[in-house]
Amino acid sequence: MIFADLGLSTEVLKAVKETGYENPTPIQEKAIPYVLMGRDVLGTAQTGTGKTAGFTLPMIDILASGQAKARMPRSLILEPTRELAAQVADNFEIYGKYSNLSMALLIGGMSFSDQDAKLDKGVDVLIATPGRLLDHVERGKVLLNGVKTLVIDEADRMMDMGFIPDVERIVSLLPPLRQTLFFSATMSKEMRKLADKFLMNPKEVAVSPPTATAATVTQGLYMVNRAEKRPLIRKLLKQEEVKTAFVFCNRKKDVDILLGSLVKHGFNAGALHGDMSQSHRMETLDKFKNGEIKILVCSDVAARGIDVSAVSHVFNFDVPTHAEDYIHRIGRTGRAGQQGHAYTIATKSEDKYLDAVQKLVGKEIPVLTLEGMDEISEEAAEIAAREKKTDRNQKGGSRRKTDDAPKAKTSRKKSEPAAEKTSKNSGKKENKAPNATTRKGRPPRHANDEGDAPVVGLGDNIPAFFKIPLGKTAQK
Ligand code: AMP
Repeated sequence: MIFADLGLSTEVLKAVKETGYENPTPIQEKAIPYVLMGRDVLGTAQTGTGKTAGFTLPMIDILASGQAKARMPRSLILEPTRELAAQVADNFEIYGKYSNLSMALLIGGMSFSDQDAKLDKGVDVLIATPGRLLDHVERGKVLLNGVKTLVIDEADRMMDMGFIPDVERIVSLLPPLRQTLFFSATMSKEMRKLADKFLMNPKEVAVSPPTATAATVTQGLYMVNRAEKRPLIRKLLKQEEVKTAFVFCNRKKDVDILLGSLVKHGFNAGALHGDMSQSHRMETLDKFKNGEIKILVCSDVAARGIDVSAVSHVFNFDVPTHAEDYIHRIGRTGRAGQQGHAYTIATKSEDKYLDAVQKLVGKEIPVLTLEGMDEISEEAAEIAAREKKTDRNQKGGSRRKTDDAPKAKTSRKKSEPAAEKTSKNSGKKENKAPNATTRKGRPPRHANDEGDAPVVGLGDNIPAFFKIPLGKTAQK
């Protein structure tokens, strides 16, 4: 099938042609005709499948007739994160270049007054994150009763991020007679229930998550022990011709540790994970996109849906625990026919995840050996020995330091390399015992405050009154 078969206007087809796309992707083939018919659509599709164009292209044509009124957008696209909202806005600009549509992007970190000014002029397309949109609604700056087309994108992620009550509130302010497009990467029972609330007699379209990796990506596997991972990645980053690279870690705290280590060793690196403020994330991402940062260390969640072209390398510092993430990760390189490289660094303890990945992609990832591996092992052994020594010296509660560890600014960073040392059974230990300490040497009270491990019961934070002998209280 070609784009011209889908019923899109000549303006849109011209813009699509200029992007260089040859054929519509499966989700575009399936969704675009229904959207153009005005039907509600329930789409199961992940990022990377071309779903954004699947709804933006027909929307541009639907909105071609009609005029926007002040503060009354004609269509609304809800996105869970600022990055995704900004990406959808970029798509509208690219595909809508021959269509005269106005657009506003309402996301945090941007000035309210600029956004208000746009809304005052009237917009055809409003792209927003739920929280910021509700801020504008509450300030009376936007009226939603003129919205005729609604897109709820990445609904499963909206749910993960706790945005559903905001989305429900927003939908309650829209006219009931409208077209709704609902996209989610997965279609669980909960998602269906939610979709039932928002959609009327929808057409269901689904594309299965990709299971194949691109032939343009050279894949390789290094089997090491945990302590060798950091020296190895540094070596690989030096010896490979890295233009830009994603480095994926499974845990947020490892993202921080690895970033600190790379920066300390002179690499031009930045990080992206869910605990960073949105503005910091946007700033880092912009720097990565414009080449100011060469290496982006990130977690799967933070990097999901982020579209950066011409990435030369992907490194899996850890084998992903969900096999499909391997495909997402390495799909960031080798795009549009370019050559890409994807290297995975695994320990024996990650075997079961590796098996799952290889089963999903239907082939074994070739095991590579590296010249200079002896040096790496020696370096790792030294680090491990230093850590062990520091550990012994510090029995009694004070914090540990490692040479390889980032020069930590916070107590957490100083203490975390301990997790790395617990290599073989790292999974278990890291999840159970929070090594992180707060300023008072106590474990954090909340999971994710300082590490990924939940505190059981009261942790060390026993209230003082628990310690008063019962008799004493009675005597008072
Ligand atoms: P998405 O799933 O919407 O995030 O899109 C993922 C990537 O696919 C983006 O870089 C798009 O520019 C690209 N893309 C979208 N449609 C097509 C197409 N028909 N052919 C080739 N690439 C596409």
